[in-house]
Amino acid sequence: MLKISLTESELGERIKWLIKLRWIFIIFALLTIWIVSYQLKIINNPFPLYIIIAALILINTSFRYLSRKIYTDLENLKDDEQAIKRIGKSENRFLNFQISLDISSLAFLIYFSGGITNPFIFYFIFHMIISSIILSRFAAYFQASTAAVFLFAIMTLQYYNKLTPNYILDFIPGGSFEKNIYFFGIFFVFTTTLFLSVFMGTSIVKKLREKENELSILKDSLQKQAEELKDVNKKLKESDIRRSEYVMKATHELRSPLAAVKNCLKVITSGYVKPESEKCMELLHRAQDRTDNLLYMINDLLSLSSLKSEVSIHPPEVLKIEEIIKKVISIFSAQTEEKNISVNYETGKNLHPLIGDKENLEILFINLVSNAIKYTPDEGTIEIKAENKNRGIRIIVSDTGIGISEDNISRIFEDFYRTKEAKNVDKRGTGLGLSIVKQIIKQHNGEIKVFSKSGMGTIFNILLKNIEK
Ligand code: ATP
Ligand code: MG
Repeated sequence: MLKISLTESELGERIKWLIKLRWIFIIFALLTIWIVSYQLKIINNPFPLYIIIAALILINTSFRYLSRKIYTDLENLKDDEQAIKRIGKSENRFLNFQISLDISSLAFLIYFSGGITNPFIFYFIFHMIISSIILSRFAAYFQASTAAVFLFAIMTLQYYNKLTPNYILDFIPGGSFEKNIYFFGIFFVFTTTLFLSVFMGTSIVKKLREKENELSILKDSLQKQAEELKDVNKKLKESDIRRSEYVMKATHELRSPLAAVKNCLKVITSGYVKPESEKCMELLHRAQDRTDNLLYMINDLLSLSSLKSEVSIHPPEVLKIEEIIKKVISIFSAQTEEKNISVNYETGKNLHPLIGDKENLEILFINLVSNAIKYTPDEGTIEIKAENKNRGIRIIVSDTGIGISEDNISRIFEDFYRTKEAKNVDKRGTGLGLSIVKQIIKQHNGEIKVFSKSGMGTIFNILLKNIEK
């Protein structure tokens, strides 16, 4: 995003303001000269004053033209930060030049209309105030010095009687003015007044600028917060969409076995097969199988959603992992014997106890071992190893089964995802087992890695850590 400081962005406005002020001054000066020369008749030769005002009108008209050009240049360069900075610098010089010119015009006006005794000399203070507002601190002091130099020059000329007597409102009557002490007195007081005005003006402006900057920072941070809120809102919407997609997927998966059960029962109830026939028994078995499947899926879905909600039902307890693994192996002994799969279990010495969720860890190993058995052909081998790893426990479950292709590896932890090869081995299955495993590992602050190749067996490498109470 383009970042331009407050001061740079205001420069154009300041130039316009100064030009407007000058028009007001010109009108006011013309009126004054007319009054003092034609009405009050206290000035004998207004001609040089009119020349100065005419010059000012000309100069201000050209300034107005120049400032408009700068303004349109700035508009055209909206996105070019460098160019804007460059123009900003030349604008600053332009402002300084204008003020110097104003100070010298005033000096000439005073020179031609009574010199130091002309009370309009106090108009220098206006210039100091304007400089403090629109220029940098350094430039404002520089302008004060310029005014002091002009003042010194006028006074010196006047001191040596080099001015044409053309007094308006001579406020120092008598000739006492030409005395040295008076000369230095006026010079000292007036110069210090100039510098003091700059000092006060720039201090007030500095304070105001600080406040302005604070406000701008506040505005930026509010804008940032609004953008962050927008982001959060977007994410909430996306997660809402994902949630409805999930519900659609889940209901779709639940519907197909239910439809199958319904069809089986319909064939029987509508009298197409006789209740005592073999066909009837077959259909009833099929319906029973599908109902079992449905129940498995509903159970899986329930435990998965409770794990995802991260509200633990079982309190964590100190447990021995090797006992859980042994229990799970024994649960599957009938199946491994049936497929003639050998299960080797190896554990490092003195596995340290783990603070964990016993029920969930059992579910975790049931899923991993059941997968290994399901996806390993007869006569295969399953190996389970457990060892201490820092303060946690590393467990490796490997098999000599069908393996997982590279494309599928990254997807097997997705809810409902099953590979084609897995479906060929077993049509049933929810594709929720590994999602549950992933959540249980998360609950135990651990990690899971898979190494596999199609037809080359699979290795699951797991790290489990204590549940923090
Ligand atoms: P469910 O566990 O619900 O009965 P499933 O076993 O198909 O069904 P997951 O346990 O989530 O579902 O596994 C997801 C997929 O990961 C499986 O379908 C299979 O493709 C692959 N997979 C998991 N474990 C193994 C393994 N040991 N060998 C080969 N493929 C595996
Ligand atoms: Mg499984």
